[in-house]
Amino acid sequence: MTELSTPLVAALGARAAELLAAQLSLHTVGDLLRHYPRRYVDRGRLTDIAGLEIGEHITVVAQVEKATLRDMRSRNGKLLAVVIRDEKGAELDCTFFNGHKLKSLVKPGVRAVFSGKVGVFNKKLQLTHPQFETLDEDDEIRPFISVYPATGKLGSQVIARSVRQVLDMVDDVADPLPPSVRERESLAELSRALRRIHVPESQNDIFAARHRLVWDEAMGVQLALALRRRATAARPAAACPPRPGGLLAAFDARLPFALTDGQKAVGEEIAADIAGRHPMNRLVQGDVGAGKTVVALRAMLQAVDAGRQAAMLAPTEVLAAQHARSLRALLGPLAQAGELGGSDLATRVTLLTGSLGAKAKRQALLDAQSGEAGIVVGTHALIQDRVGFAELGLVVVDEQHRFGVEQRDALRARDAQLVPHMLVMTATPIPRTVAMTVYGDLEVSALRELPAGRSPIATTVVPLAERPSWFKSVWRRVREEVAAGHQAYVVCPRVGDPKEAEEADDVEPPEEDGEARRPPLAVLDVLPKLAEGELASLRLGLLHGKLPADEKDTVMRAFERGELDVLVATTVIEVGVDVPNATAMVILDAERFGLSQLHQLRGRVGRGSAAGVCLLVTEMPAATAARTRLDAIADTTDGFALAQLDLELRREGDVLGALQSGRRSGLRLLSLLKHEEIIAKARVYAMDIVEHDPTLAAHGGLAALVGQTVGDEERAAWLDRV
Ligand code: ADP
Ligand code: MG
Repeated sequence: MTELSTPLVAALGARAAELLAAQLSLHTVGDLLRHYPRRYVDRGRLTDIAGLEIGEHITVVAQVEKATLRDMRSRNGKLLAVVIRDEKGAELDCTFFNGHKLKSLVKPGVRAVFSGKVGVFNKKLQLTHPQFETLDEDDEIRPFISVYPATGKLGSQVIARSVRQVLDMVDDVADPLPPSVRERESLAELSRALRRIHVPESQNDIFAARHRLVWDEAMGVQLALALRRRATAARPAAACPPRPGGLLAAFDARLPFALTDGQKAVGEEIAADIAGRHPMNRLVQGDVGAGKTVVALRAMLQAVDAGRQAAMLAPTEVLAAQHARSLRALLGPLAQAGELGGSDLATRVTLLTGSLGAKAKRQALLDAQSGEAGIVVGTHALIQDRVGFAELGLVVVDEQHRFGVEQRDALRARDAQLVPHMLVMTATPIPRTVAMTVYGDLEVSALRELPAGRSPIATTVVPLAERPSWFKSVWRRVREEVAAGHQAYVVCPRVGDPKEAEEADDVEPPEEDGEARRPPLAVLDVLPKLAEGELASLRLGLLHGKLPADEKDTVMRAFERGELDVLVATTVIEVGVDVPNATAMVILDAERFGLSQLHQLRGRVGRGSAAGVCLLVTEMPAATAARTRLDAIADTTDGFALAQLDLELRREGDVLGALQSGRRSGLRLLSLLKHEEIIAKARVYAMDIVEHDPTLAAHGGLAALVGQTVGDEERAAWLDRV
């Protein structure tokens, strides 16, 4: 009997199976049936060749009448000039560039679907290099022609034929979705949905089939996450109950401001979580400046109060160093254990980064090992160097978007006995669907308000294409801010060392504007120009990722102390840098940055009591996609709205890809934009199912779905821990 797990060799024979495996990595009947059509040609909506308009995008079914190879005038290679004729007898010219290759496919007598844009050549209408799919007899009688993702060596038609062949063999596939779910959600049965998505009779068939198959993917993802959550939650953790009269209480007593309601509420959630005997796994999202550091510090102090240590991980050395300094500043005497003037309750904050000198590093490692350091702040090096902690109770990961899931897990794996609690903090607001998928193994809390007394940031696009004279005003504005006693950032997309092609902090240009453009501005070019020109009288500093760590640190400290007026920097300042006196941010070649990145950058100003200004300088002309994006940033400071927009502009694969470390994605139809409701419902069903059947023992089909989504090895790893 043929089932979804049957190898394609058994169903189709060796030749077809080898081709499908080599070209598309399809190995089983199930793989092939989950290789859905990319689009459909609706025969009811085909265009007639008679009456075409120039510039129109058309799809015609027609027969090749003539095909002639010609030399190309300006280039090497041959051109294939083709005349096609539709059922009503009207003719149209088509030209194909790589004529030699196509000659055997596009030959007289062949019927095919041609699609492209109508143009003119030699006063005649023509299609230039249209897409085409050859047809076979089966296609002639169907209302829809399914067009598959194909390769040069394996065309859509061949795939379609193989699909139809296996569809006829597997009449009755076991449906993995429980009948109760199917009924409540009015979902088609799997066999029916598979048949309909490949061989639809109507537009409605396509919708219904897709809807059902999206559910499979949503359930696969949510079950995987539910299993992962359960596996983690089942492990033992060090309980860190609050201690009355302890370090946290002393800290709260000396805090110079009142916590926001959000900070209090999230703080209570965390306090309850880490008091428990199973690991906390919580994500705190809060816009830039929302005050996440204090929330994290309070959690770390609770851990120290319970006799444990806390580690805080930052994505860059600059940020780690700054965190260590600001934690020490917030703690005051409470961070001066063993020092003169230190409080009796005091602990110690130790900085541990890859670039510490050998001696300092040895001391830091020793402090971590002996438990002398209650709080250890560091970069990835902290993970990689396998620091031994005496009693690690809590790990705080700051600015999550720079850390991958594996890195999160790496910290966890170090201690098999007791798993540290995990607090992940991100300043990138997360749309609901992303929270439910990419971060779906975490509990999510949000800090939605900013502390009182924050100044608004005015963001303005400076469109040099239309208003070149504004460039001077940008620098005048910077000089004015400095004259008023404030500081400014100037951010460029590139470092620009001519000796090296690889640029550490370089921003990838968004893809849509793929034309030849001048290279992005670089700090190493911009700084000297400003120093000799517009900002000649000011004290300028330089910061980028390729500087040695101690130099970065020196520059950052000088800027913090007000010894520099303007910091010319790359995106190394994007995350977390906190200098309240900085009020102006100039971003050059702003269109080179992503939406979230610009929002993060802008969050570096307006952190004190003076109003902030952010100038997005761009040469892109009006009405381009790049300018629309910049206008969006200028129009709103609502991080959540921007995050949603960012999701719409990004390619989704990148987002969902994070769920599946390095595997070919099992997700084909699921969209974080279109399927919010399905994802939310699937999440509820998945949690319920896993609660009653933690190993999916009674749900073999669902277990297989999970395997398709995240891979069987990973699934096995979670099940082992239950
Ligand atoms: P982020 O959420 O971006 O990490 P920070 O934790 O760096 O924000 O906080 C930004 C600034 O706001 C810091 O200087 C911090 O001390 C201050 N801050 C935090 N909470 C409050 C509060 N409740 N009231 C006033 N200022 C606060
Ligand atoms: Mg921060």
